[in-house]
Formats: sequence, structure tokens, C-alpha cells
Amino acid sequence: MLTAAPPTTRTSSPTTTTTTTMSARRRTMSMGSSCAFVRATKSRGTRGSAGGRRSAPSTVRVVSEGTGRFIVGGNWKCNGTRASVKELVQTLNKNVPQIEKNCDVFCCPTFLHLPYVKENLDSRFSVCAQNSWVEADLVDPEHHYDSTTGAFTGEISAEMLEDLEVPFVLLGHSERRTLLGETDEIVGKKVAHARYHGLSVVVCIGESLEERENGTTFDVIFKQLKAVAKEIDDREHSSWGSSVVIAYEPIWAIGTGKVATPEQVQEVHSKIRNWLAENVSEDVAKATRIQYGGSVNASNCADLAKLSDIDGFLVGGASLNGDDFAAICNASSVHYKAVGR
Ligand code: PEP
Repeated sequence: MLTAAPPTTRTSSPTTTTTTTMSARRRTMSMGSSCAFVRATKSRGTRGSAGGRRSAPSTVRVVSEGTGRFIVGGNWKCNGTRASVKELVQTLNKNVPQIEKNCDVFCCPTFLHLPYVKENLDSRFSVCAQNSWVEADLVDPEHHYDSTTGAFTGEISAEMLEDLEVPFVLLGHSERRTLLGETDEIVGKKVAHARYHGLSVVVCIGESLEERENGTTFDVIFKQLKAVAKEIDDREHSSWGSSVVIAYEPIWAIGTGKVATPEQVQEVHSKIRNWLAENVSEDVAKATRIQYGGSVNASNCADLAKLSDIDGFLVGGASLNGDDFAAICNASSVHYKAVGR
């Protein structure tokens, strides 16, 4: 479980994941978080009331971002046999003493392997599901709070993940968007529903190569963000920063070996943060952790981790090697050093 205290003056631990906490979060939806590391240099508009939006600062100068804790996730995708998962779990467990203590870490096995991993992986790592279900035709926000268990063959509900005490769920991965047709709207509903069930959410966004080349990267990303923001009501906005992680994953960098340049990543991350400030709230912009994903490996992670606006990584291929994954987690110390912590 992710229960370690923040490294410095953070006022909330973002990912305390006991059942009690999850239920409490669902009841109150008010786990605010504040961030001592972020200073906005422009006007601080007032928070909007329900349905309204605050007036936005024109820029948010970020000294160091998110909750201050680096967060690294391993997306195992549709990989693993009983034997290989066992071996990976053993290698990860062996690496626990070497992993930087101020880094939050989660692993996303397949649903089939999830109970085994939850049982056998050291509690230093959190487990994260790779998806959860929501009905496509739910239009009334209130309905996100209805049950999604029932006649949905082949699906897994947020209720089940909550019941199994799985603290995280990965939503909107580009492979699900492109191969399985998940729309921005569905992803937004999934996020809201998972949040209601107390799950922390890692929501993936990112542009295709074509979109980058035709200059529509930010249109695409902002539309994806908007679909999430629209579905999370004001009550939930107050806990967004502590429980919603954004994973920026340019599709052209996923599994291709073609990692985005630090400049490309920094540009997108800082625009995501400004979008959050303008369209959700300044508090959310300050507190949200933004991971980069796309061909991150043990050799290139340090260069990326130096960027102030990268709060962690979402790692696919390289997370299947426990030693490499541990090395990537330890890029957090490069990050902390670079941002002066
Ligand atoms: C991913 O699938 O989330 C991912 C980032 O994959 P890879 O690291 O293999 O590019």
C-alpha cells in the first residue's frame, strides 16, 4: 500500500489505500490536497460553485509539481503466464530494499493475475487494474453512482475492484481507445464511476503521430481532459489532485522505442497543468501528478526525470523486467535532486 509520508511538507498522502480510506473517500469526496511546492504567479480566481468554473490564471508557474511524490506504474498489458508472473513478482520483491522510498509505485497485471499479484507482491507496490466497466448510455451524472455489476459479460466493475481492495485503476489507455473503440466520453464516465467507488485513477491521454504532425496535439489532449472534467462533479474535484493521476502517453511513443524528447514532454505536461488550472481549478492543477509514458526504459528515464513537470512514469514493456522497473522507479531521486528537494 502507498502509505509512506510525503518527502517534505506535503499535507496529504495521496494514496492511502485501506478499505476504510476508500469508503471514507466515497462518502465525503472531499479529500483535498495542497501542494507547498507550487506557486501560481497570476491571479487566483475563486473556485466556481457547482457547475460553474473559476476564473483562470493565465499561467501557473510550477516550481515542482503534483503532490510532490514521484509515481511510477508498470503496465503489464496482456502479458504473463503463471510462471512468468511469479518470477516477476519475486524479482520485484527482491528489489524492494533498493527502491527509493519517496516514490509511489503501482503494477497493473491482467485481471486474471491480479489476485495472485495482490497476495504475493510486496505491499511496497500497489496493484492497479487495467480497466473497469461503465455503461455507455449513462447520461445523467447521478447514474454514475448506480451499480455497474450485472449483465455485462466479460467486464469487470469498479465495485468488484473496490471489493477486492484494488486501490488503482488504469483508464483510457490508448490501446483501449484505438483497438476497442473507447471514446473520450466513455473514459470520462469510467473515471467518474471508479472515483465514486473510491478507486484512484490513472487516466491516459495522448495524441497519435498523425495528430502531432498535423498540429492538433493540444486539441486532442484538451478534448480528452474535458471529457474527464465534465464527468467529475465539483465534490470530486476537491479530491482530484490526490486521486487522479494523468498519464500523458503519445501513441507514437508507446511500444515503438521512440521516446518523446524532454522538451516535447515538458511542453505538453505544462499545458496540461495550465488546462487544469483554467478548466478545473488551480488547486487541482497544483496537486495533480502527470506521468509520462512511451518507451521509457532504464537508460532513458533519468533524462526525463530531470524535468520539473514530470511527476513520474507509466511504463509498459520495461515493467516486465523487475530489475529495470526498479531502476526506473529510482529515477525519482534524479527528479527530487533536479527540482531541489
Ligand atoms: C504503455 O503501454 O502504457 C507504455 C507506456 O508502453 P511502453 O512503455 O512499452 O511504450
